[in-house]
Amino acid sequence: MSHINTMIHNGESTQGDVIKLVKELSPSKVAVFEKAYNGKSLKAGIKSFCLSCQDCKPYNIRNCESKGCSLWNVRPYQEEA
Ligand code: SF4
Repeated sequence: MSHINTMIHNGESTQGDVIKLVKELSPSKVAVFEKAYNGKSLKAGIKSFCLSCQDCKPYNIRNCESKGCSLWNVRPYQEEA
């Protein structure tokens, strides 16, 4: 399990705790998490979910092999940036 998901699923972390960890792992991805947390963007919710799953590594999301995941068809970074 990724560092971010471990934190999310420990049942004690706040959104602020997650933002702090994302800042350490990949500062450029903080805005996506903030957008998801404000609850007004499903796209940001999906993107941040995949970023959480893969510790903010777009390459891993693009090459994700978990085709059974319900987000797989709509995951971000399918095209090389
Ligand atoms: S599509 Fe892949 S990267 Fe995205 S949440 Fe599912 S398993 Fe994780």
